[in-house]
Amino acid sequence: MSWLATQPTPGADVHVLPVDDLTAHDENDTCTCGPTTEPVERPDGSIGWVITHHSLDGREHHEHA
Ligand SMILES: [Zn+2]
Repeated sequence: MSWLATQPTPGADVHVLPVDDLTAHDENDTCTCGPTTEPVERPDGSIGWVITHHSLDGREHHEHA
């Protein structure tokens, strides 16, 4: 089980997705998993967004146990 960070285009929002999850994820902030959106400062000082999706198999709880 692992996680994948994707950025469709340079400067776009970054999505952190669980690999091989039980469901498909949409790469937007209205995904059915209820992703967490956090602002991050880019090297040039502008603000981008990291959208962290939640796995249906609950792997994040195992990783932090
Ligand atoms: Zn999702």
